[in-house]
Amino acid sequence: MKMPTQEGRKRYRPNGIYKGPFTNDESFWEVCTCLPECPDPCQGQCGCQACATAYEDSLYFEGLNGTRF
Ligand SMILES: [Zn+2]
Ligand SMILES: [Zn+2]
Repeated sequence: MKMPTQEGRKRYRPNGIYKGPFTNDESFWEVCTCLPECPDPCQGQCGCQACATAYEDSLYFEGLNGTRF
């Protein structure tokens, strides 16, 4: 597994890992490699897998919440 950056640790406390909705499955965990100059929220445009995944997840859940029957 990659090492999170200092900034990553601040964004995903305490250890810089975004666990998403699959908290129990380590294969889905992503390490945040953001730098301080990254936008906040970061959408993964810096190459950070954690933020890219977090952004996708937020879109997914937003989509779910926005759907009313
Ligand atoms: Zn990140
Ligand atoms: Zn970033």
